Amino acid sequence: MQNINFLLNDHQETALQLPANLEFGRIFTDHVFEMDYDEVNGWHNPTIRGNEPMLFSPATMVLHYGQAVFEGLKAYKTESGEIAIFRPDRHFRRLNNSARRLCIPEVDEEFMIEALKELIKVDKEWVPEKKGTSLYIRPFVYGSDPLLGVKPSKTYKLLIILSPVGAYYPEGFKPVKILAQDDYVRAVRKGLGDCKTPANYAASLLATQEAQKRGFTQVLWMDGVEQKYIEEVGTMNIFVRFKDEIATPKLTGSILPGITRATVLELLRDKGINVNERLISMQEVIEEYDKGNVLGIFGTGTAAVISSVGTLSYKDKTMTFKHDDPNDFELNLFNEILAIQYGLKPDNYGWLDYIK
Ligand SMILES: *Cc1c(COP(=O)(O)O)cnc(C)c1O
Repeated sequence: MQNINFLLNDHQETALQLPANLEFGRIFTDHVFEMDYDEVNGWHNPTIRGNEPMLFSPATMVLHYGQAVFEGLKAYKTESGEIAIFRPDRHFRRLNNSARRLCIPEVDEEFMIEALKELIKVDKEWVPEKKGTSLYIRPFVYGSDPLLGVKPSKTYKLLIILSPVGAYYPEGFKPVKILAQDDYVRAVRKGLGDCKTPANYAASLLATQEAQKRGFTQVLWMDGVEQKYIEEVGTMNIFVRFKDEIATPKLTGSILPGITRATVLELLRDKGINVNERLISMQEVIEEYDKGNVLGIFGTGTAAVISSVGTLSYKDKTMTFKHDDPNDFELNLFNEILAIQYGLKPDNYGWLDYIK
């Protein structure tokens, strides 16, 4: 493994007080990890340095053609006072899967986990303590050639930045209002939908903005070919809780293979619940809802973990779901995953990677 250079700041901020209404991704820690790629040296010069602005050419490729991939994962201060990262192996594996599709050179996954741990150790005072808070981790890679020719960049930069985040539900678990969208699509099969890449986010902005103007929180995306099957909700995977089955759209290529999705699938299967990955049409959801057979719908993702749907609208149909039962399924699932993440419940699956 390569040696990491440490160019640390003299004056470190420590033990910050997080404002209660902290905006997601607004505050960053003192240090970043940075590494370079070129054809001769491969990935080289891994460095942990102060979080200073960067200088780059206006022709930098990523700004023009979007050759970039990223990840989003979290570290938690656990009950015992240690810091644990949730499933970093899966996140760096997915970073490489996304990278291959965008002609970006892969990274050494084990080395990246070690580098991330070193970075978090340097900025460990920034990991917030309160239940619900965490350190959000954003690794990303981009093509850095200063060149306007359309081809894969020959040089790349990989960075990891860290952002302490407040509880996603400071006022308690809150159901969201969703608009199913068929005027726009997020992604198409064989396109980039199963990669974590900026283009998918750019594609989602207008539909989300329009939905928000109409009083909705998020968009439910349908498949890019017929707009018949449900695919994702906002930047989360989606689960439908039918009376006798919990179903989530199968990974057809246009859906991001969420790690929270995989976590939920594993937990539910091990409880003996009938869970299936399959195509789910909007038609089916509406028909089953009308028969009283849809008990709940929820999204899964690293940021919110579980987000339950209070209202789902599609054309002139509005479906509502109650979440006031103290034994609410989605709330219980949310609490169960949080308990594992904060070390309050045994980590039977080895999902927590502790920083030693
Ligand atoms: C990141 C992401 C998700 C959720 O993935 P997790 O690994 O659970 O955080 C779902 N959908 C999209 C489009 C995403 O970018």
